[in-house]
Amino acid sequence: MTRERILVHVCCAPDGAYVLRLLQQNYEPTAFFYNPNIYPPEEYSLRYQEMVKVANWLKVPLIEEKPDFENFLQLTENLKDEPEMGRRCEVCYALRLEKTALRALADKFPFFTTVMSLSPWKKSQTLNFLGDNLAQKYEINFLKADFKKKDGFIKSVALSRELGLYRQDYCGCLYSYLEKQKKKAQESGSKRDKF
Ligand code: SF4
Repeated sequence: MTRERILVHVCCAPDGAYVLRLLQQNYEPTAFFYNPNIYPPEEYSLRYQEMVKVANWLKVPLIEEKPDFENFLQLTENLKDEPEMGRRCEVCYALRLEKTALRALADKFPFFTTVMSLSPWKKSQTLNFLGDNLAQKYEINFLKADFKKKDGFIKSVALSRELGLYRQDYCGCLYSYLEKQKKKAQESGSKRDKF
């Protein structure tokens, strides 16, 4: 049976490893790393290098689309105070999905999708809605998914530990990075208060 080619947006190695391996059962996936949201640039390089390891492990082609960091910051500047899973994240999802759809169209992939629905901190409904709209706009197929279902997230954590992959402790953008720093400072402050 011929398997359809699918361009799969990947945001990090742990999510990519689990979802790409799952998709290999029915499709011929190519990974597409486009993540201009990731801050700082050292973190971007680290996440990309980990993704290279996963692509080699699965023998899946990997395309890196150069990140336009400035554009992401301009698009989200007015939404910097939004909570995670709020309106800023919708802009972030849409930007990455549209680039994936355009690349899929240019390279004649019949399908595209994203691994992002694996994360419990990503709204699958919104991702699927945006993906469907892009599919109509560009006349291409979007594979709707909620990869966190059937214990997908738990299984992905186990797989990434097995492979010794780097697991980030914040979503990716400057704002989520600052939020993480703030939480860490609060935690160490409350520990100090106990003495
Ligand atoms: S929190 Fe995550 S999804 Fe939301 S804008 Fe930042 S990087 Fe994008």
